[in-house]
Amino acid sequence: MNSPKSIILAGPQGSGKGTVGKTIAERYGMQIFETGGKLREIAKTTETPAKGTPEEEMTTDQKIKATMERGDLVLNELIMSMVREVLSSITENGVIFDGIPRTPEQAKGLKILLDECNQQCEVVLIDIGEEETLKRLVQRKICVDCGKSPSPKHKEDSCDCCGGNLITRPDDQPEKIKRRLKDYREKTVPALNEFDDIIRINGEQSPEEVLSDVLQALDPILKQTE
Ligand SMILES: [Zn+2]
Repeated sequence: MNSPKSIILAGPQGSGKGTVGKTIAERYGMQIFETGGKLREIAKTTETPAKGTPEEEMTTDQKIKATMERGDLVLNELIMSMVREVLSSITENGVIFDGIPRTPEQAKGLKILLDECNQQCEVVLIDIGEEETLKRLVQRKICVDCGKSPSPKHKEDSCDCCGGNLITRPDDQPEKIKRRLKDYREKTVPALNEFDDIIRINGEQSPEEVLSDVLQALDPILKQTE
């Protein structure tokens, strides 16, 4: 048996990589490690620390929550320990990493962990321009109850999965988006350059075309042949 292969699924927010990740996870029997979803769960279930609370009196979750509310990227050590856990539990198929690495530091850490677990890795970048990212994110809604985003064609005010109310994410205000775009440009792009080969996909096509390009690139690498 070949050693399992993992995928780093990269792209600016709004590139649609979450949806792509779900499809390829099903197709190749892989599990997804989605940093954003895990962090949103913490955001939802953790109370904001009182103003002026010293950092050393906060729990890890509270520190993460406070960091996110400032619009900053979350602590590296916590994210890397989540990665270590997921990699130690994989069997024959690899993991899809969505939302990591965000920084060159995370890229180096991830490479070391992948090596330790004998995991090969492919980087798939769904690329869209900053203008397009901004346009897409300002329009993005999520469900207050189940946290899912409605499909792009869904026009109602309620969730197409559970009927819950749709709201704009608190971190999707334009100035916070711009700050994350700057982080992407200054930290994530150099992080991806830590990897030798990057499969680049044009993310400004229709979602169907994006998916088709991704599958065309990954099928020869991941599809079981027998
Ligand atoms: Zn819902």
